[in-house]
Amino acid sequence: MHALVIIIIVIAVLLIIFTFILMASPKLRGKMLSKQVESMRYMLDESKDDIAKLSSVGVDIKKQILDENEENLKDIAKKEADIKSVGIKSAAKAVKDGLTKRDTMYCKHCGSEIDSDSKYCKKCGKEQ
Ligand SMILES: [Zn+2]
Repeated sequence: MHALVIIIIVIAVLLIIFTFILMASPKLRGKMLSKQVESMRYMLDESKDDIAKLSSVGVDIKKQILDENEENLKDIAKKEADIKSVGIKSAAKAVKDGLTKRDTMYCKHCGSEIDSDSKYCKKCGKEQ
């Protein structure tokens, strides 16, 4: 029990020292990084064939799915395009309406049509 506690403390102290050395020494850090890069490269080299095989299988499956659903996909794409064009048209119309149309109201005194944001009637000149 006592020995275990001592071992844990020793490991913790070693870890802390190691961390400080790593922080203090860019050279050591660089060495460790290049070791990591090296091992990564090694792993990639080893699994190159597998990765190529896997991705070619993936491409085959995608191609098959595309071939089998060509008509559906075309249909979906067309519908999406239609929805977008309707959306763009209505948005454009709303912008145009906002720019050109003004709400109208009528003068309290003479009844002629005036803009809702005008303070005075254009005909009789009275305040609204
Ligand atoms: Zn008026």
